[in-house]
Amino acid sequence: MGLDELPSVDEVLRTAPGQALLGRAPRPVVVAAVRAELEALRSALRAGTSMSPVVDPRRLEARVAERLRPSLRRVINATGVVLHTNLGRAPLHPTAATRVAEVAAGYSTLEYRPDERRRGSRHDHVAALLCELTGAEASCVVNNNAAGVLLALQALAPADHRAVVVSRGELVEIGGSFRMPDVMVAAGVVLAEIGTTNKTRASDYEAALRRPDVGLVIKVHRSNFVQRGFVDEVSFGEVAALARAAGVACIADVGSGLLERSSAPHLGAEPAVRDVVAAGYDLVTFSGDKLLGGPQAGLVVGRAGAVARARQHPLMRALRPDKLQLAALEATLQLVRDHGAAALPVHAMLSADLATLRARAEALRIRLCECFPDLAVQLVEVRSAVGGGALPEVELPSLALALGRAGLSPDDLDHALRRADPPVIGRIAEGRYLLDVRTLLVDDTMEIVRAVRGALDTRE
Ligand SMILES: *Cc1c(COP(=O)(O)O)cnc(C)c1O
Repeated sequence: MGLDELPSVDEVLRTAPGQALLGRAPRPVVVAAVRAELEALRSALRAGTSMSPVVDPRRLEARVAERLRPSLRRVINATGVVLHTNLGRAPLHPTAATRVAEVAAGYSTLEYRPDERRRGSRHDHVAALLCELTGAEASCVVNNNAAGVLLALQALAPADHRAVVVSRGELVEIGGSFRMPDVMVAAGVVLAEIGTTNKTRASDYEAALRRPDVGLVIKVHRSNFVQRGFVDEVSFGEVAALARAAGVACIADVGSGLLERSSAPHLGAEPAVRDVVAAGYDLVTFSGDKLLGGPQAGLVVGRAGAVARARQHPLMRALRPDKLQLAALEATLQLVRDHGAAALPVHAMLSADLATLRARAEALRIRLCECFPDLAVQLVEVRSAVGGGALPEVELPSLALALGRAGLSPDDLDHALRRADPPVIGRIAEGRYLLDVRTLLVDDTMEIVRAVRGALDTRE
């Protein structure tokens, strides 16, 4: 049974749900989506993964509507992982989002100074702010921190192919494809590896800095792992002092972009950009969308001469940020200057204490219980992570709602909520489906209620 019982595209479009689909997109687009959905159903029937041809037009409409919506869209992050790289890392402050929208929809001062009727530099929109917030003399912006490291190496790499000193304990991999030794080779520099995996001493730097073939030093923050036991590393401050004493240029990749030192336990022992800059590096690079709490970007700050070389480097054209990144970055930096980093969503989420989280969880629990009397909703204590390859050891005590209903497995719930619009991304732990409230934003409650309603409906 089955295959010839599937309706034709025309039959689908004549039903009321089919007509509703035609209101969402131009006819050829809807026809293509309905055809693709029917084709998928036919394949499922042939493969035996589906037993009955779906005749419910409302189900079909929902499946086709899924095909019609944008691919890149908002999700509700109920994972508790604050800097979730797959979910877009830092959420922007609403003011920064508004600034992006303003700049996006029209023309802008990206490279123009209206008051002087002349060309300007895109880097200058944030230069004064970055210098004020980091203590650096100058700055430029690239697409992400990976690009920042590449540019810094290229801009300061010795022209005569002399080597770049790097500790073997800092040849790190940061998420997927960013491997420090590979990036250095791709940047065309020769590596002068010093020390061992677990120990690098000041004397290793001193010996390397005496070699005539050495022309640059890079110090890399081990942002996503820790070493314990028989270990030694040379601090950011010491490495810069050793390089300066030897008259060799130096670069620091700080990674996570915490601007000011903090004693907050949730920020662990993250190096602060301001301290690293003060140590005397020629260039310091960091991400815009980790602990800085802004858009994807690579910030390159440091001494005026070194930054000028980076700005003028031929690679800059390939690495430069676009106007939307810069709009978000300028707004984010202004918020930090005017109200402190705590005003940003990322830091509000990271620092939210248990009382705040309990109030948020309790409000959501009550709302869910009111709406769905047969849904079991339980408050459970969990631990959430910072994420984004930052602070691997910090575990934030957090609260989650465990959802359950007879006849509905955690997998079923997870599946249905991920297919909601917007998708709700929770997690399954110890056989329970959990929504961690740490990463929820104020307006998420309504959407969660809607998603849960959909999840319960489709199973009734
Ligand atoms: C995250 C990180 C990078 C890569 O930064 P992106 O902005 O993701 O390109 C590079 N180095 C370090 C030390 C990092 O922590």
